[in-house]
Amino acid sequence: MGQVYRVLKIEIPWRLVEERPDVLDLVTRIHLATEEYVRRLLKEITGQEEPKLTPEELGRLLTPDRRELAHKIIEEVFPKYNLKKYFIDQAKVFWHDIVFFKMVPLKAQLRVENERDFGAPIFIDLRSEILKVRRLKTFVVRLGRNNVTWIKKRLEEGARLKLAFLGIERRRGKEPTYGKLYVALVFAREVTPVEPRTLVAVDVNRLDNGAVIGIIRDGKLRRTLRLPEDGVIRELRRLHEEISRLEERAAREADPARRMLLEERVRRLKSKRFRKIRDVVTRIAKEIIELARQNNAAIVVDVMDYETYLERKQSGEKGDKKHLYDGLGRLRRRLQHLAEWYGLPYLEERLYSTVCPHCGAKMEEEKKRIMRCPVCGFSDARDNIPLLWAKRRYWELIEKIKQPAFSSVPAAILLLTS
Ligand SMILES: [Zn+2]
Repeated sequence: MGQVYRVLKIEIPWRLVEERPDVLDLVTRIHLATEEYVRRLLKEITGQEEPKLTPEELGRLLTPDRRELAHKIIEEVFPKYNLKKYFIDQAKVFWHDIVFFKMVPLKAQLRVENERDFGAPIFIDLRSEILKVRRLKTFVVRLGRNNVTWIKKRLEEGARLKLAFLGIERRRGKEPTYGKLYVALVFAREVTPVEPRTLVAVDVNRLDNGAVIGIIRDGKLRRTLRLPEDGVIRELRRLHEEISRLEERAAREADPARRMLLEERVRRLKSKRFRKIRDVVTRIAKEIIELARQNNAAIVVDVMDYETYLERKQSGEKGDKKHLYDGLGRLRRRLQHLAEWYGLPYLEERLYSTVCPHCGAKMEEEKKRIMRCPVCGFSDARDNIPLLWAKRRYWELIEKIKQPAFSSVPAAILLLTS
């Protein structure tokens, strides 16, 4: 059994924020106080000004004996930002978690029927479909259909609302600015990991080629499929050819006004592409998770091309392929996160696509995306090779999955704060 989390981020419409500057002001103060607290605490512990730490390293540093130091810093920092007792007390309770969240967890109540209102600072009424923010003059946000449906689904899955955050998106850049305001609701439930006999092997080499998925049971490859459907892939390619064309035209354009217009069109198409990729990722992830749930399967993701991507990113390669790889990173995080929620084991493995799954020799590209082994003569589509490796390593992977790996920092939280 383990506790798992999912987060619903509800954006506060800008119109409401404008009407109520005190909300923006409060959230900004919480944000600044939290940042200063985390900075000072980490400096005291490590002696460094801006230590770069992984979540695991952070977890090891924040031992219970740091608690008093943390409380002292909170008591000094929070009043500077005019944050009163409620926030100081909450920060003290969660002194450890705040370092990961960079936000102060608030008490939250979800009213499904007619339960008594306990006056929590974040109050969600599912029947009237509203969310109230208190601790200042009550501020009401309409929930929206999708959010209500999402919450109801989580309740059906046995989750409950654990806590909430008031957050503000920070836009990175030379001068960091602040963007959208949101309320994040953290749902938690207990889950018993499944003991799989089936693997759903996922080979995503590049988003514009789609993902190839294999279902492997008892050492046999039972089914393969490709996601998303061809139409979606073609549309992505078209979009991104159009962007390249317009960018080239803009670079050649001598007239500044016309160049600006072209650049504006590029910007619009790029955000359209970003949304499209995000939707594709959401859909692929949903289908893979559904397959895994139906089969009580573990998910094994081939990470080879992602490593190639990181190498390229570090070597400074940019250009139009970058966004596709970014989509890949997003897909991995989403799969991991949803797998955790449904108790499906998740594993990232290097599954070869150019090594012969029969004899281990290096394969050669015979024609476009068809690989052939020069030693034993075996040949197949390049996309199928990783699945054959997953099949060959089936028993080993099943054993590996049996070692449970509940991360100390919930993926949902990392997803929210990344
Ligand atoms: Zn071979």
